Amino acid sequence: MSPCPRTRRVLSVASECAPLIKTGGLADVVGALPAALEPLGWHTRVLLPGYPGVLAQLAEAGTTLRRVWATEDLFGGPATVRRGVYRTTGGTGGTELDLMVLDAPHLFDRLKLPTWDFHPESLEYHGLVSTLKAGMVHASRVTTVSPSYATELATPEFGFGLEGVAAMRLDRGEMTGILNGIDTAAWDPSTDPAVTPFSASDLAGKDANRGALLAEFGLDPAGDRPGPLAVVVTRLTHQKGVDLLCDALPGFLDAGGTVAVLGSGDPGYEFALGELAARYPGAMGVWIGYDEALSHRMYAGGDLVLVPSRFEPCGLTQLYGQRYGALPLVAATGGLRDTVTDATPENLDAGTATGFSFSDVRLGGTIDAGGLGFALGRAADLYRDADAWDRLRRTAMTTPVDWGTSASRYADLFGELVG
Ligand code: ADP
Repeated sequence: MSPCPRTRRVLSVASECAPLIKTGGLADVVGALPAALEPLGWHTRVLLPGYPGVLAQLAEAGTTLRRVWATEDLFGGPATVRRGVYRTTGGTGGTELDLMVLDAPHLFDRLKLPTWDFHPESLEYHGLVSTLKAGMVHASRVTTVSPSYATELATPEFGFGLEGVAAMRLDRGEMTGILNGIDTAAWDPSTDPAVTPFSASDLAGKDANRGALLAEFGLDPAGDRPGPLAVVVTRLTHQKGVDLLCDALPGFLDAGGTVAVLGSGDPGYEFALGELAARYPGAMGVWIGYDEALSHRMYAGGDLVLVPSRFEPCGLTQLYGQRYGALPLVAATGGLRDTVTDATPENLDAGTATGFSFSDVRLGGTIDAGGLGFALGRAADLYRDADAWDRLRRTAMTTPVDWGTSASRYADLFGELVG
């Protein structure tokens, strides 16, 4: 993958990068975008902190790291930057990542930031230091991962105190929302080694995955639950609307739906979900933990993937669900609003619907359990119409969710910046 002479270069500086280190969607994006930018003439090198786990995986993969820079004094301590090419494996072969790691994590507590930059137009944030704010102020351009979230960020409700800076950059046309895509090679139901293969044109494997997932969670043992199987794959936090799920799911379960949850996070939510599952044995199962392969099996087996986030910069789980025929049921906020076309009668007739959404925040809607419950009811109703469900699922599975368009938008933006 060595760049040709006319290839231009981007340095992507990130705190995580799949498959080396992942806590959420950022890692997926940082890991997948380089391969999508390469054919557009942009070669990406990723700079990551040299976490011990990252260094161990690079060693295990036989990645040779060459020292390219070292100092005895990076903010008061020694640091080394090493470079190598890490080969990843995916469903259809894998790609290469041009990687640099900064081996310096013992320095963080000694980080000294310049005092001359400590004022409200830069680092200072209500008397504290915010490097995020400084970045938003000083960057040539600011991007975020969906058009809706770019405008939401400029409001007090979503800006979390940074709405002033966001509004300023947005007004000047210097902040852009570019939707995330997904790595469609690593997430391809027809080649994914974690699941029984299937595709939009051959859905038999989808049924096999559904049955296997039910068995794995000990659900629907008598095979008589008539409703859809809804899956949830998420960090268990307030942002992700886990409390809304706890309030809305009983109605769905009582009406014959089935639920499987994979997640970890806030112990209160872990407990609440466990309690709910105990109230609905055979109808709801919860797996507390982080398990990448199980997440693939969940999307492959589910009829619906639930994403009732209170805010969501882009969200990836709805895209994985869509690709694996687990129709996304989402709160209409941020990137969820921009990626899911609601199954209204008009959109169903037009063949454009890809899932279900509720409570559009930009139309003044509130994301609450009532809206979620109503959307779950709509989904369960449509599930009874096997032909309509089949059409909706095929549309969802064949709607592009790859990096194509978005990588071009990044390439255009980078091109504008370098002139
Ligand atoms: P966020 O980055 O806010 O957590 P995203 O939807 O953008 O949300 O990305 C979440 C990513 O993390 C997806 O790849 C999802 O499959 C994965 N994920 C979340 N929780 C788990 C879990 N418990 N086990 C495995 N994968 C998970």
